[in-house]
Formats: sequence, C-alpha cells, structure tokens
Amino acid sequence: MLKRTALILVVAAGLLALTARADYQPRAEKVVDNVYAIVGPLGQRSMDNDGLNANFGFVVTPKGVILIDSGASRLGAAKIAAAIARVTRQPVRWVINTGSQDHRWLGNDYFAGRGAEVIALARTAATQAEVARQHMESMKRLLGDRMQGTQPLPAPKTLAEAGALELGGETLELAYTDAHFPGDAWVWLPKQRVMFSGDLVFVDRLMGVLPWSSVHNGQQAFHALAALAPARIVPGHGRVCDLAQAQRETGDYYDFLAGKVGVAAREMEPMDATLDRYADLPEFRHLQNYGDLHRANMNRAFTEFEAQ
Ligand SMILES: [Zn+2]
Repeated sequence: MLKRTALILVVAAGLLALTARADYQPRAEKVVDNVYAIVGPLGQRSMDNDGLNANFGFVVTPKGVILIDSGASRLGAAKIAAAIARVTRQPVRWVINTGSQDHRWLGNDYFAGRGAEVIALARTAATQAEVARQHMESMKRLLGDRMQGTQPLPAPKTLAEAGALELGGETLELAYTDAHFPGDAWVWLPKQRVMFSGDLVFVDRLMGVLPWSSVHNGQQAFHALAALAPARIVPGHGRVCDLAQAQRETGDYYDFLAGKVGVAAREMEPMDATLDRYADLPEFRHLQNYGDLHRANMNRAFTEFEAQ
C-alpha cells in the first residue's frame, strides 16, 4: 500500500512537472497612456518561456494595435496575442520588427495569418532572411515540439531608409542601430518620448556581444539615443527604465568596450593582457550574466577594433 502511494506520488509529481512546463505567460504593463511593454524573463530561452526571454511592446490606437516584435515561435506569438487581448479588443494591425534575432520576428507568420501587416527596415528584413534557417534549427533544438507550426516570415513590407510611420494618430520613427545584429533598429515614439530600443539596450543583465555584433555601431547608436532624451526606454532585455539606468548599464559599457578595449586593440597591445586588466569591473559586476559574458564581449570588441 505504501509502495503504491509512493508510486502514485511519483506519477503525480511527474505530471506536475509536465504541466509546470511552458507556463510562462507574458503580461503587458503600461509604460504611458496607450503604450505598453511586455517584459520577458532575463534567463535563457526555454520550453517554459517559449523563447520569450526578451521584451516586446505595443501601442493601442483607434485603428488597431501596433505590435513591436512578435516572439520566437507560433506558440510564443499566441501568448503575446493573449497578453494584448487582456488590454484591448483592438486587433493587431501592424507588427514592426526591430531585429532579426529569433525572438524579434519568428512570430510574424502568426500575426500575418490574422491580418496584420508586418513591417521592418529593409536591412532588418534582409538579415531575417539570411539567418532564418539557422535560427529555426537552434530554436527547434531548444524548444522541440513547441516550435511546431512556426514558419519564418521575414517582414514583407520594408522601408528602404529610416523614417516615420503613422497609424491611428500615432507616429513611430524607425532608425538603424546595427549593434547586436546587422540591420537592427529602434522604434521611437516622439509624442510620448518612449524608446523601444530593440537589442541596443540591455539593463538588469549584461549585453552579449556576438561575433556579428558591432561595438562601434552600438556606441554610436547609444549616443544618438541619449541625444533624443527619452522619458522611458523599453530595452531589448530587462525592465523598463529611464535614460540614466540605460546609460549606466549599456551606454557606459559600450563606451568602456570602445574606449578601453578598442583603443588597446588599435594600439596593438596584447589581447590577453588587455582582457586581464579589465577582467573585474565593479560597475557592471551586478548585472546578470556578467560572469559568463564579460570576457567574451571584450574579446569580440578587441577583434573588431583590431581590424579597423
Ligand atoms: Zn535579444
């Protein structure tokens, strides 16, 4: 009898573990007026979060909802749609992509199938097409069956140059940042002074400099962002913040990478000694992933500036 009870408990625990999976439900939080952010968890992509470990946002207008970024899968997109539906009955009219990393756009097809127009800058869409197969494969490895039905759809409507779009009395200005991925962009709402930075700004966790990222572009773009003096920033990852926090946790880090590591590389100092010298930076140590990413970030910054 005891044995049987134990067995039942084991089975019940197993079922609980199964149902506990994939239960992350994104929630919208108001940034200001009709502008909302969906702030994802800071950790890695997982079956629990359906790859929604990033931030999304939307603007509610009388002509429909403008969604910024569409999630990493069909299921993730459906979760974003549910979070929007808890705020408004308006349909999603537009999806604007700020980037080509999985969580920025692999949900495009889901929203397009429900009548939304998907829009991005031309080079954002070009990078999406280029990385589609690779990102689908790595997401299938991470999310397994939960990627089922996901079709990569690079933004069909593209703008050749940075510029403004208008829907339902709301103006959105798109501009290239080219920092985390080539063709990355931001969406700026001049009326509300809200910046959806895409993967230019990371707070609460350290940014990752990837082999195709550009520290030089990131530094330039961050300075341009600061010049706009946004009231609120919805970063690519981390909580909604003000400019001061974005400056401390992203802007200052770009300045450090370009100013210290980049200058050492240009002056042909040895890489290892440079990386050792800056291995411990108290001002960034509190950021999640610092231990895992900081040295690799410096390494890539060094390589980038060495080649210039
Ligand atoms: Zn990202």
